[in-house]
Amino acid sequence: MPLTPSETTRLLGELGHHPKKKLGQNFLIDGNIVEKSMEMADLPTGIPVVEIGPGLGTLTRKLLEKGHEVHAVEIDKTLFENLRISLKNYTENKQLTLTQGDAVKLPLASLRQAQEDYAVVANLPYAISSAWLESLLATERLPFRMVLMLQREAIDRMWAQCGTKSYSALSIFLHAAFRHDKSHSVSRRCFHPVPSVDSVLARMDLLSDPFLFPAPDRALIRRIFTQRRKQIGSIARQEDDSKRSEILNWLVDNELEPTLRPEQIEPETWTGLVDRCGN
Ligand code: SAM
Repeated sequence: MPLTPSETTRLLGELGHHPKKKLGQNFLIDGNIVEKSMEMADLPTGIPVVEIGPGLGTLTRKLLEKGHEVHAVEIDKTLFENLRISLKNYTENKQLTLTQGDAVKLPLASLRQAQEDYAVVANLPYAISSAWLESLLATERLPFRMVLMLQREAIDRMWAQCGTKSYSALSIFLHAAFRHDKSHSVSRRCFHPVPSVDSVLARMDLLSDPFLFPAPDRALIRRIFTQRRKQIGSIARQEDDSKRSEILNWLVDNELEPTLRPEQIEPETWTGLVDRCGN
């Protein structure tokens, strides 16, 4: 069971810790949501799990009780120290590896990249949700499943459909690699302190044939989307000779008008740009 609101307040008091808004420190206090996270994750026994921002260890404990090997990365020194002491039994038997650091720099915590299948279960801090996903995509060793607690606005932005204002380079990369097939609304009252917006628990499964955009193409598409309101033909003209002709040829091959804006081009069409660029 997670800590109740009063137990959370007492523990934070004992640690002399005031939740930091800029680190998204809104701790889960609802047992049903912890159970729902596990149910949605539906993980095979023993599969390694990466957790971003374990905080007071609510999800961490549940994952450990279920027998998973957990790799967790927490940036906050006080919270990290508390976990190190309170979960000592699990770190000693190596079921839990705790790392103090920034998940954007360590997107897989202590998990080695070469490892077989792994999953991610996390109540993601709002400020790094997009940056962490970008770093994860750059590892090119993607989890077979993720169950992420995200603010509603963040998930709407990530999974934005083509033609909408929120459609972005990150939505293209995610659509190419994952399927977002389950979500569950979570009231802001399930957290302490209560945040100003509601959240969503989202499950994303790796596609059977995920498409991973190579780093130079991710950079190109990100660059293109910084000018999302311009026409793709005029954006192409700002690139060097070789990139310009690759983009223009890609438009011709896909029967796309150069007057289109980047946000009007479907995710799967962008994968053709990679083939064009010969990566
Ligand atoms: N998992 C806990 C829970 O569900 O109650 C806490 C979740 S809280 C929304 C986010 C946690 O991420 C906090 O513990 C915060 O300190 C941590 N955090 C914030 N930024 C981070 C970063 N860049 N790298 C690692 N952890 C981070």
